[in-house]
Amino acid sequence: MHSLHQDLGVPPAVNASGKMTALGGSVLGEGVIAAMGEAARHHVVMDDLMRAVGREIARATGTEDGCPTTGAASGIAIAVASVVAGTDLSRIEALPDPGDAPCEVILPRGHSVHFGAPVRQMIALGGGRPVEVGSANKVTAAHLSGAIGPRTAALLYVQSHHAVQKGMVTLAETVETGRRHGIPVIVDAAAEEDLRHWPATGADLVVYSGGKAVGGPTSGIICGSAERMAACRAQYNGVARPMKVGKETLFGLVQALREYGTTPAGDHRARMERLAGRLAGLPGLTTRVVSDEAGRAIHRTELTVDPGEAGRDAGRLAAELAARGVHLRDHHAATGRLYIDPRPLRPDEEERLVAQLTALLQGEGR
Ligand SMILES: *Cc1c(COP(=O)(O)O)cnc(C)c1O
Repeated sequence: MHSLHQDLGVPPAVNASGKMTALGGSVLGEGVIAAMGEAARHHVVMDDLMRAVGREIARATGTEDGCPTTGAASGIAIAVASVVAGTDLSRIEALPDPGDAPCEVILPRGHSVHFGAPVRQMIALGGGRPVEVGSANKVTAAHLSGAIGPRTAALLYVQSHHAVQKGMVTLAETVETGRRHGIPVIVDAAAEEDLRHWPATGADLVVYSGGKAVGGPTSGIICGSAERMAACRAQYNGVARPMKVGKETLFGLVQALREYGTTPAGDHRARMERLAGRLAGLPGLTTRVVSDEAGRAIHRTELTVDPGEAGRDAGRLAAELAARGVHLRDHHAATGRLYIDPRPLRPDEEERLVAQLTALLQGEGR
């Protein structure tokens, strides 16, 4: 079955870390795989397909129109390009040089995150100039409005577990500030699960990843008004050309959107409680179930590693497991804690995780 994996010397990995780009995003359902295969067999008028997929995005997000992208990162770049250049072909072809167009994109300093690349860089790629306001742990609506001037193109709000969660201006305040000054608000909601919630806040352009919560192929979504989405699509004649989306991806994204929400995701809490119970007896581990730090309906098993008892610290334990093909969520390894994310983890993979963790902690390398 995995012949090409084997030929390449890159075997399938057990992913207990969540929807991670570094582990290939989502594993696709059979319906999505079939849709991508169907697309691969035929030519199609791409402009028509882009607009048809926009209508599917609109349906899934409760907006007027949508624009498919290669990911949320390109979605940010294209959304910024659209507010800087609009549908003016000369401006579109000059980007990322904005010329004399307003190009400043104001964002709270606590939202200037690195998701694999800096969000600032995606702004610059679209011809914007990032303007961070406030402090890393304190940003108010007054910081936003104080920075708004004739060069302002947009406000950017990053809804993410990567962002600082305390002391930040709210999205409602950001939208209100944008309204008052006639400045559009772009929301990066890359990994968010409720596709209808964020556009309903009144934000003008909302960006999602298609390969995270939606469970689609590596792809992304921008949604908003018909006029704003026409301006987003127009960027494919310019700065977005190296970010073009293939027909196979477009079909896969549509199928994933159609399937999204039809099967209850579930928060896996009971499953993680059982797993925490099973792992609690291993030497050097304390376990419990915790909810997502950014408030999404996700429960994870937390492993606190006692290096004395376990024979290695959390970081080394995670690295040893990874070398055995099992990847835990290790953002907080420096604090001695590892997490198991249930979403991408199949039951048989969960068994492999338990077996490898048990082998490591009950003897080997201690
Ligand atoms: C993952 C992520 C991105 C990038 O999404 P891709 O679909 O991988 O391009 C952007 N912003 C945030 C907050 C993210 O978590």
